Amino acid sequence: CFCQLEGKIDECSCNIDTVDSFNNVKIYPRLQSLLVKDYFRFFKVNLKRPCPFWVDDGGCAMRYCHVEYCEENAIPVGLKGERTASNHNKFTAGPESCNEHQDLGYLNKTISEKAQHDMEKWAAHDDALDNFCIKDDQGEGAEYVDLLLNPERFTGYAGESAHRVWRSIYLENCFRPKETFSFNPYIQAAKLNNMCLEERAFYRAVSGLHASINIHLSAKYLLSGRNGLSLKDPNGEWGPKLDEFKRRFSPELTNGEGPNWLRNLYFVYLLELRAIAKAAPLLERENFYTGDDSEDYDTKMAIKDLLSVIKKFPEHFDETTMFRGSKEAEKLKYEFKQHFRNITRIMDCVGCDKCRLWGKLQTQGLGTALKILFSGKFDYDGSGKLVNKTDMQLQRNEIVSLLNAIGRLSTSIYKLDDFRQMIR
Ligand code: FAD
Repeated sequence: CFCQLEGKIDECSCNIDTVDSFNNVKIYPRLQSLLVKDYFRFFKVNLKRPCPFWVDDGGCAMRYCHVEYCEENAIPVGLKGERTASNHNKFTAGPESCNEHQDLGYLNKTISEKAQHDMEKWAAHDDALDNFCIKDDQGEGAEYVDLLLNPERFTGYAGESAHRVWRSIYLENCFRPKETFSFNPYIQAAKLNNMCLEERAFYRAVSGLHASINIHLSAKYLLSGRNGLSLKDPNGEWGPKLDEFKRRFSPELTNGEGPNWLRNLYFVYLLELRAIAKAAPLLERENFYTGDDSEDYDTKMAIKDLLSVIKKFPEHFDETTMFRGSKEAEKLKYEFKQHFRNITRIMDCVGCDKCRLWGKLQTQGLGTALKILFSGKFDYDGSGKLVNKTDMQLQRNEIVSLLNAIGRLSTSIYKLDDFRQMIR
């Protein structure tokens, strides 16, 4: 089977089958039960921003592209106040601190408000420098979406609109091999040797994400509607479609590239897993506040359990080999960040709301992983112990997108095994 991949994962130090068994037995089931918790299922996103790069396709009229927004009363009370889990305690310090606040004289209050405002401004400024994403969960147009009611699956979005987005990502926003210019915007694996490690890693991460999206739509394909095969039928039956999977990944139909794209899925999985391991001390401190004590406690325990398993898995993606030393490396890192930010903006050009939703969530998750790995704020001390030097914060949306993003990759690896068995 072409999807029975073997050997080492590119740029990493472990074999495909090690990841398969680790993911399918330990990570996948844990993420499945974690991601249905309220904290992770409600994602705030703005799907109404216009495409900044070309004239919009005018949205998508297909029924399966439709996104169901949350009714006000469906949103957990703790999420309505826009508070992050980590600042929750500050807001609920009890009646004593409320009185204290009221006692402040006008002048004091004004000064402290100004100081607070300045601090927030600088924190936002610092945060923006670290970010690999353009955030869009604040302000007009941002709304909560229940991810469980809007699963990622086949939508029928294809053709020139989808191709333009992928083409623009690969052609204009991925690094390209130096000496070649081909009319095909998609990079062949053999050409990657002409690129440096960081450039290769960037391409592999994007291609792995692309592979993951295409595995999902093949694994949750519209098999039949109530009235036969019809995208207009709301009561369709969804399931794996082997022919679709083969069309997208078999070497015969992809110029030999399909298996390489599948290998890139493993690469981006290890990259995000490493970021979660690195952010573990911070995640262990989060309250995962939704306003429901028992739900929040369960979420905390589920995260603890997941992190304990991740921490036991040796780290196979080593970000310390990237962006080392020279001024050139700093320049490359800057470009890396700009390219990735652009990709997050291109998500506003995806002409299908459902695809846009999951595209935004997964690019933001990957951007959060890159921020954790490369901002330099999570580092090891001399004894190899992880220290959070500068008290870096993650916003709720970053945590939600990071965990859902690894959830999507983990599901893809799991579904790949299903396809293997079907082919057998
Ligand atoms: P495409 O997937 O459009 O690929 C275009 C070209 O890119 C291919 O011809 C090939 O040369 C190259 N390529 C393909 N895969 C890779 C890879 N992994 N790495 C490198 N190069 C590659 N459709 C849905 O049904 N549901 C969704 O949820 C969904 N989400 C999407 C999210 C985004 C952000 C985008 C841009 C598209 C999404 N789509 C979704 C559409 C889907 O990804 C395909 O674009 C569509 O199904 C058409 O597929 P295609 O066979 O023409 O090739």
